[in-house]
Amino acid sequence: TRTYLIGGNWKCNGTIASLEQLVSDFNAAGPIPANAEVVIGAPAIHIPLCLMTLRKDIAIAAQNCSLTGMGAYTGEVAASQLKDMGVTWVILGHSERREGFGMAGEDSELVAKKTKAALAEGLKVMLCIGEKKEEREAGTTMDVCASQLKPVAEILNKEDWANVSIAYEPVWAIGTGLTATPEMAQETHANIRQWMSDNVSPDVASAIRIQYGGSMNGGNAAGLMAQPDIDGGLIGGSSLKMDFFECIKGVP
Ligand code: 13P
Repeated sequence: TRTYLIGGNWKCNGTIASLEQLVSDFNAAGPIPANAEVVIGAPAIHIPLCLMTLRKDIAIAAQNCSLTGMGAYTGEVAASQLKDMGVTWVILGHSERREGFGMAGEDSELVAKKTKAALAEGLKVMLCIGEKKEEREAGTTMDVCASQLKPVAEILNKEDWANVSIAYEPVWAIGTGLTATPEMAQETHANIRQWMSDNVSPDVASAIRIQYGGSMNGGNAAGLMAQPDIDGGLIGGSSLKMDFFECIKGVP
């Protein structure tokens, strides 16, 4: 049986003051269930603050890492530097980074190479995939997910997958309040697991966690995680509030 993985993605939010308050609230919140693992994706600049002050039963993730190692790469943060700092996870391939917010976005080949580089340094990876609204409406949800997974499956060894979780985040559900229904999400999660079974191996497919992301909150988390193929969440807006702990309470 798979341990639930509850990720918070703070994105580019927070100041020293606001995050010190949030950390102190999280530290005072209730216990984390034994069948759940909790990770916070902090802004790179706030990673040291979180490592020093956040409760030790919450791990820290970066929200990106460089494809390169250390060197003359201005503005980048290398996977080896994250690992050295005490970071254990990295979120890769988030739809916002794929989109690029006005810059060149990341394609699936780049995401695959970053995944390999991060794993090689001993980081664990939350690999984000998911379709846009038009793609769901066109009935191509699983084609999109498969095209995002394929370059990763080509570059990773079977053993590498032990340190990867797939975060299925339908782009139309991110930050919109439009959560996929548990049934819709379950259908895609099951298709993703089947794809992994067919294209990587049945063992990897049954072991890998598939998190749901997109407007998950304390009100809908339990219903989503009650589905057989939904192994947790990747939570944006609600992870910046105490509602994050309501999501954690939704772990079956
Ligand atoms: P929201 O929970 O704010 O919709 O964001 C989801 C997300 O993008 C997590 O990575």
